Amino acid sequence: ADYQSEIAPRWCTGCGDTAILTAMQRLCRDEQLPPEKTVCVSGIGCASRLPHYMNAYGFHGIHGRALPVAEGIKIRRPDLNVFVTTGDGDCCSIGAAHWLHAIRYNMNMTLLLHDNNVYGLTKKQASPTSPQGMKSNTTPFGATLNPLNPLTVTLGVSNVSFVAQAVDWIPDLLYDILRQAYHHKGFSFVRILQRCPNFMEHRFDDWVRDPSKMRILTHANGLRLKPEVSRVYKNQETHDPLDMPRALALAALKEEIPVGILYRDPTVPCYDELRAGERPSTPGLVELVLNEEFDKVGIWPAETAPAAAGE
Ligand code: SF4
Ligand code: MG
Repeated sequence: ADYQSEIAPRWCTGCGDTAILTAMQRLCRDEQLPPEKTVCVSGIGCASRLPHYMNAYGFHGIHGRALPVAEGIKIRRPDLNVFVTTGDGDCCSIGAAHWLHAIRYNMNMTLLLHDNNVYGLTKKQASPTSPQGMKSNTTPFGATLNPLNPLTVTLGVSNVSFVAQAVDWIPDLLYDILRQAYHHKGFSFVRILQRCPNFMEHRFDDWVRDPSKMRILTHANGLRLKPEVSRVYKNQETHDPLDMPRALALAALKEEIPVGILYRDPTVPCYDELRAGERPSTPGLVELVLNEEFDKVGIWPAETAPAAAGE
């Protein structure tokens, strides 16, 4: 199947989002994910435009709220492949509460955090991951605070099951990390360092230009490192993906950027499996809307279909 929709991407030339879209489409093609069984959910921001460009179901939601929508979809339709695309402002600021609880619920879906360290769509305001001292429209004298580290935060939440980091400028590894995230049963959190040439020009140049500053994480069942990639990125480390102290230390690296799977525990229970087949007695807003829609069009999965009146 062709996974590009009829809508042409409206990202700036050189935007890292394009590499992420390509990796997503490559994943869908290689895994032969049926478009009618695949849904991309987003919030608001440059990253959140991605569902428009996928030939699959999509939900371009409201700011910060991609995760509750995705969770509502997954709990009703566990058979769907659910991907969430969100930015550092969308996920780590206005959507932070949903982010933390999504890690804890560990529902079977993949989150792609496009982290360009800035609000791009609204033309350069500091986000929670902006570097200290960065001048922007909201921080004309430079950002005051140390940036939030989405990796260490995610690793610190109970029930965390999969944390990885990718970069848009090594497309082979970006693709492979997304593939591993997709195959992980549980909530797969993938932070992708994404270049925004429009508002964060040169932000990642040091690492793009010097492969020795990239640390590639290799382990059994880890990345498929092609020889040509391995030859360029020689700074490699093999660690046990269940070793939380090591994962936290890698996540906190400042001079180097770790790329690969920092932490993976496939035994953490998934909320969607624990509650499979139930129709909530006290549904939330998203569930109410979905219940109503599913009732209207009659697409309840057979095993969760509510009993018809009189049965
Ligand atoms: Fe990409 Fe930045 Fe342009 Fe947004 S503003 S489309 S993140 S380059
Ligand atoms: Mg951003």
